[in-house]
Amino acid sequence: MLREVVDMSSAVVIGGSMAGLLTAQALTEFFDRVTVIERDLYPAGAEQRAGVPQARHLHVLLARGHQIIESLLPGLDAELDGAGAPRVELGYDTTIYGRGGWVPRFHSGLYSRSVSRVLLDYTTRCRLLANPRVTFMEGWQVSGLTASADQSRVTGVRAQMRGGSREERTLEADFVVDASGRTSHAPEWLTAIGYDAPEETVVNAFLGYATRWYKKQPEFKAFWKDLLIASQPPHNPRGGALWEVEGGRWVVTLAGANRDYPPTDEAGFMEFTRSLPHPAIYEAIQEAEPLGDIYGYQRTENRLRHYDRLTRWPSGFAVLGDAVCAFNPVYGQGITTGAMQVEALQAALRAGDPASLRQRIARVIQTTWLMATGEDYRYPATEGPRPGFSTKLMHRYIDRVQVLLCQDTALAQTFTEVSSLVTPPAALFKPAYVWKALTFRE
Ligand SMILES: Cc1cc2nc3c(=O)[nH]c(=O)nc-3n(C[C@H](O)[C@H](O)[C@H](O)COP(=O)(O)OP(=O)(O)OC[C@H]3O[C@@H](n4cnc5c(N)ncnc54)[C@H](O)[C@@H]3O)c2cc1C
Repeated sequence: MLREVVDMSSAVVIGGSMAGLLTAQALTEFFDRVTVIERDLYPAGAEQRAGVPQARHLHVLLARGHQIIESLLPGLDAELDGAGAPRVELGYDTTIYGRGGWVPRFHSGLYSRSVSRVLLDYTTRCRLLANPRVTFMEGWQVSGLTASADQSRVTGVRAQMRGGSREERTLEADFVVDASGRTSHAPEWLTAIGYDAPEETVVNAFLGYATRWYKKQPEFKAFWKDLLIASQPPHNPRGGALWEVEGGRWVVTLAGANRDYPPTDEAGFMEFTRSLPHPAIYEAIQEAEPLGDIYGYQRTENRLRHYDRLTRWPSGFAVLGDAVCAFNPVYGQGITTGAMQVEALQAALRAGDPASLRQRIARVIQTTWLMATGEDYRYPATEGPRPGFSTKLMHRYIDRVQVLLCQDTALAQTFTEVSSLVTPPAALFKPAYVWKALTFRE
């Protein structure tokens, strides 16, 4: 039985990557037919494709994202397990070298999967392909919105086939969601039907990635599956991560902020790895077999489009995922924040109040945005609206927390929950923690 919440029966989702796929799944509760329009032709398996170039790099699935995806698609976790993606308990199967040295091993009770981005997409996509309510239009690019005569309502999209005949089509829909990612053209599409484009805030820490995949040597022994060497801003903008994913592989991603971009040549990559605050990744990959080239990526600025501030908005249209807010990827928040926005979409439709969605999405993004940009403002080269004095105070406080958590498992637990987006950051400001941080002598 369809829920009779809104008087609609067909929806279109623009973009069939993680945010778009999860959106399509959520919309099947409310619409008879959901069409996902994706510019790319999908590969046959868990492989790279042009529309998601970032998939070559490490994708951390935060515990909150893992939970939401499983609730939207029950059993997906078991499928990832079947495909060989290791299950990790944060703090126990993962290890972090931070400002205070190694964080001692502890049981957090928080779990996720250590999975390549292409496998996560493929497994999710297969579930949607099997859903009779969902249709895919692959190899079609949306070029604009259509609107009612009085422009009060979005009535569908215009799409063009890529390559071949370049056929054009107009698809009618009761509800259209743009999930076309960082390069979304929603601002232009809105102005073309008589609305304002949103204001945009950009905070750029000039961070770059370099990634290489390796075959893990069977004789390599360590308690951890995933290893993170955190940067120590502002003095050391370099960090790196080694994640064990399906297929007995390691994905090693190096990150350098403040324009200290990691090189993509062999010697430079190894030298950068050796120069991290701790050489553990360098030591681990000495004997590992590289599985291909080194890939770079530098389009990492935080970019927030303030759709919630527009006073006029057409009904039947929503924007979510990276299309609204793309984050500096180094904090691993993109997929999870997208999934949280899908939850907000579900909640708005269940409440019969789609008009509240832009505000709900803005609330979801706000916390993640403050966490990501707050950290990025530690680097002197970071460009964006100048932060207030409170950001500097926050840096001092979090510096102390990061040292203290190596001696205090309760604090390590709270920090892990907050950075996994399971618990709001306010939890780090409990009076007991504040007292410890203030009285602590480094
Ligand atoms: C280097 C890097 C590393 C990252 N690491 C992490 C991480 O560790 N953890 C994490 O959670 N997140 C990470 N992210 C963020 C994550 O990749 C995104 O948040 C995630 O992909 C969700 O984005 P999305 O679905 O909104 O958009 P995207 O993944 O960008 O997908 C947009 C889709 O829309 C399609 N499309 C675009 N325009 C059109 C059109 N006009 N018509 C039809 N289709 C169209 C594209 O082909 C694509 O399939 C990282 C990002 C980068 C850049």
